[in-house]
Amino acid sequence: IKVQDYRPQAFTDFTKEENVQAYRAALQKVRAELLGKHYPLVIDGERVDTAEKIESRNPCDTNELVGTTSKATTEDAERALQGAWKAFESWKKWDMDARARILLKAAAILKRRRLEACALMSIEVGKNYAEADVEVAEAIDFLEYYARSAMKYSGFGSSETTWFEGEENGLMSIPLGVGVSISPWNFPCAIYLGMLAAPIVAGNCVIAKPAEDAGLIAGFVSDIMFEAGLPAGVLQFLPGVGKEIGEYLTNHAKTRFITFTGSRAVGLHINEVAAKVQPGQKWIKRVVMELGGKDAMIVDETADLDVAVTAAVQGAFGFNGQKCSAMSRLIVVDEVYDAVVSQFVERARALKVGTGEDNANVTAVVNEMSFNKIKGYLDRAPQEGQVLLGGGAPGECAGKPGYYIDATIVGDVKRDSPMAQEEIFGPVVTVLRARDWQDALDIANSTEYGLTGGVCSSSRERLEQARAEFEVGNLYFNRKITGAIVGVQPFGGYNMSGTDSKAGGPDYLANFMQLKTVTERW
Ligand code: GLU
Repeated sequence: IKVQDYRPQAFTDFTKEENVQAYRAALQKVRAELLGKHYPLVIDGERVDTAEKIESRNPCDTNELVGTTSKATTEDAERALQGAWKAFESWKKWDMDARARILLKAAAILKRRRLEACALMSIEVGKNYAEADVEVAEAIDFLEYYARSAMKYSGFGSSETTWFEGEENGLMSIPLGVGVSISPWNFPCAIYLGMLAAPIVAGNCVIAKPAEDAGLIAGFVSDIMFEAGLPAGVLQFLPGVGKEIGEYLTNHAKTRFITFTGSRAVGLHINEVAAKVQPGQKWIKRVVMELGGKDAMIVDETADLDVAVTAAVQGAFGFNGQKCSAMSRLIVVDEVYDAVVSQFVERARALKVGTGEDNANVTAVVNEMSFNKIKGYLDRAPQEGQVLLGGGAPGECAGKPGYYIDATIVGDVKRDSPMAQEEIFGPVVTVLRARDWQDALDIANSTEYGLTGGVCSSSRERLEQARAEFEVGNLYFNRKITGAIVGVQPFGGYNMSGTDSKAGGPDYLANFMQLKTVTERW
């Protein structure tokens, strides 16, 4: 198969009126065609309805039902698992190129339907235009990138071995079997697709459990995978409740691997359950996880303050801080603390609050549970620091009931207080005052997480020190700390932020393969 070199998708420029108009037209189309739609389960290629349903509501206007999915029972999960193992018998024998071709075809379809996917996410999870656009670009990138990664494994012994006279040696990469992919609502198109496409292209079969809050976009892109030609049973679309089917499948002796993106608490639970060997289980389950973060950006006295403040606003409030990469701690050295913080507060104050469809900067958070959790932090904020901006949780905007939380900045928070240590996952920034550069770096490294981090500084020496000592998987200098691009900034963290895998990185497919060395004496 001939392909051009991988290039990430360009982002859409929404300062151009024609692009804004096209987005609005897509919103209308999606409202007319997809709103109220129901996505059943897909098991062995068959659409399966269930007695119970999961409702997906617009977080920016909770009166609005976006649509429904079926809700899988543990019996459905059992059938999906057995069916996937049947499908595996033939899928594992497909050529890498032929499997890659399906991802490339899916990418081509998603490129054509890019605006619809964006518009659907604006309604279903409240993404504004740019956030949705960047995400669908990332979804296409995952398909394009993993397709090319797979091609590198074509042919016997495609991984390198040393020549040995009188023998033929080869190192083959072969799929693991059937796994479960449990994906998050915050990137319900890109991460959902990336987490199923990578194991699938490597020859595995996947039971995909989308997040309960974003079942429609998951159904939409799953259909694109089927349209691209995935054989029945290779992808089992299984919306359901994590505690029920997620738990069931994680426990199951026949589950070979689990790939999960979400909170630290759920991730550690999955890791524990997966570690226990069940009767009849023949393998040690592989667990690939991307968990939370308490990501910090340091601003020192040599930084370009305008660059730093822009990076802080983008990194903190993009998609309301609902990214595991979001800047939730801003660490500023004392000398420039007042100047940086006052500008940061002013810039954040100007952010427009509203719906994703109205392209607001700050929209509603995803659901009631998130809303209540964030509100709990806001209620305690005055005891932990100085509330410089926001602090409220109005729960409505312009007469629409929704999970609206104020963009909030809390200054002079102590490094070990809960707001400086726990992931809040909302538009809430904790600001910490450091004595000097070294103190700032110590504060940055003082959490158990290690996902993203940033430094705004013009000191070469300090940037080099941070390059070596800042304990994170993705480190950014003089820019925002979110928005990793597939293939450009392979993404994933250290410590409690995950199992050290890199989504969109050169070795990601290896997470879903095992190696076999074959030697023939001549
Ligand atoms: N990859 C995303 C970024 O770089 C974050 C993914 C996540 O929040 O899970 O911003």
